[in-house]
Parts: sequence; structure tokens; C-alpha cells
Amino acid sequence: MNAVPETFSKDIVLVADKLARHYSVKRSMFQQGTVKALNGVSFSLERGKTLAVVGESGCGKSTLARQLTMIEAPTSGRLLIDGEDVANASRAKVADLRQRVQMVFQNPFASLNPRKTVEQTLGEPLAINTKLSSSERAERIAHMMRTVGLRPEHAARYPHMFSGGQRQRVAIARAMILDPQILVADEPVSALDVSIQAQILNLFMDLQQQFGTSYVFISHNLSVVEHIADDVMVMYFGGVAELGDKATIYARPRHPYTRALMSATPALFEEDRRIKIRLQGEMPSPLNPPSGCTFHQRCPYAIDKCRVEEPALRFVDGRHVSCHRAEEVGEIDA
Ligand code: SF4
Repeated sequence: MNAVPETFSKDIVLVADKLARHYSVKRSMFQQGTVKALNGVSFSLERGKTLAVVGESGCGKSTLARQLTMIEAPTSGRLLIDGEDVANASRAKVADLRQRVQMVFQNPFASLNPRKTVEQTLGEPLAINTKLSSSERAERIAHMMRTVGLRPEHAARYPHMFSGGQRQRVAIARAMILDPQILVADEPVSALDVSIQAQILNLFMDLQQQFGTSYVFISHNLSVVEHIADDVMVMYFGGVAELGDKATIYARPRHPYTRALMSATPALFEEDRRIKIRLQGEMPSPLNPPSGCTFHQRCPYAIDKCRVEEPALRFVDGRHVSCHRAEEVGEIDA
């Protein structure tokens, strides 16, 4: 997988090119500070494929989701959707691009309007964005409800009348009703019962097969990611730690942070169990970022160079990785 392709290819539906989002915050009465929630993230998303974005809370995953869905403009960097540079697009074009990128949130109960029936929730985007007649809209709603595993006769129900899994199906139906090219899903199964999670993941995969939608799937859970992803981007402290195709990264992670996340994930089979790497401490304060590698205070492989020199994202062994010791780390404890 390319971090950022030189020229826009037909197989790439979205390109993030050094996307950054910084926030000004008050440190004290007289002092302003800057939080770099997203610090120059680059990747490309292939058409009809799933890029999973992984990391602890506070790593910049949700900030990235807000940039990709155009809820917020980046401080710097470029976002290209289907070859269109969002920053230079006309208002009409941006409105069109917004339709093509939809989002599914973690908590369907919070993201659905409790005063609207399923029919109203799914009908509203159709009424605003299409010229369908009311009978055509009703037909489309019934079809979408069946597609996501809901019964069309429940269209008059309100969100509280459904189970958690069914509510997430309604949220997915709302996101899919305009047939988007890209779906950004922010922890879409983590609020659900474990028994329901697999059903919703399978639904995402079925929908992708049926409609060819490209997914950016944000999760902190590497077992979930292993199930659904084609490519994986591991984020730490607003930047990219490791980026590549799933098989390459899972077979031999080359960033110590990826290794730590993987070793903390329970494995079913003995041969899949990895030597445990216990991370020390917490993620550093974004108001006081460390020098050199942002991971050095927690990294068991840190050397002097790591404390002073920021590692560049570079291509090593089939993936992109930002670590001075990536060549060695892949071999340690393998
Ligand atoms: Fe660890 Fe150094 Fe690699 Fe950073 S650059 S992840 S501190 S080994």
C-alpha cells in the first residue's frame, strides 16, 4: 500500500496528504498553548477496501474522522476525495462530497434522534438530497431496512424501541441510504455486547461486498481490526506509527507500539500468542510533547538517538514505519 500516491489513481478514492489539526488552548491566564491533535498524517484509501485506524484514546483517531467527514477543516495538509481537493472545491462540490462520505458513530443511542422514527431518520436525507417521490422514498427505506437486517414493518418505531444492535443497524442504514462512496466508522461496535459485535462486523462486510463502499474503520481493538481490515494504520500521539497491509503488519509488526498493542490482544491459538510487551506510563501530555520520538518515554527499545531525533515515516519490509530501530524491532522476540 502506498502512503500517498504520487499521482491520483482510479483505484484510490481518498487521499490524506500531511493532514494536520492543531487547537489553541489556554495554558494559564497569560499563556496560550497549541495541541497538535493530528500532526501530518498521510495515507490513501483504496476503492472498495477497508483501512483500519488503530490506537489508544487520545491518539488522534477521532480528530482524523472529523477531517475525513469534513466536519472540521484541517489546519494544514490536503484532503482529496475522488481526485477532488476539498479545500479548493466550490460550495456545491463540497456539498456533493459531503453526501459521498458518511459516518457511523460509536453510540447509536446518542447519534439517533430519539424523537424521530426510523422512517423519518432514513427519509430525511432522501427528501433533502434526492428527487424521489414519497412512495419511492418509502420503497428505498424498506429496501435499506431489509438490507441491514431490520424489518420494514418496524419503520414507525423510535430508537428506544430497539436493542443496541438494532439501533446500530438503523445508524448504518442512515449512513448507507444515499449510497456513499466512503463510510467512516468511529468505534462502531465497541459500545455493543460482545455477542452482537460479530453480527455488526459481518453486516459491514456484506454491505461492502454489495455496494463497493470504502471504509475507514476506527477501532482500539486489534481482534476487530483483524476481522475487517485490508490495510492498517497504527496511530500514536497524532502521528502514524505504522501503515501497511494487514497481513504484513500482523505477521511481523515493526513498530514497538504496534507490537505492544498486539501483545495485549488475547489470542485463541498458542502459535498466535506473542511475548508480552508491557507499556510503561501513559501517553504524554499534548501540551508538553516529548522531544525526539513521541513514544520514547514508553518504549522498551528506546536508545539515546530516540530522545533527540524524531523518526521519519519510511518504507521498511513492505510497510511504512516511523521508528529508528524498525529493522531490528521486527526481529526481536520474533
Ligand atoms: Fe522506540 Fe526509538 Fe523506535 Fe521511538 S524510534 S519507537 S523510541 S525504538
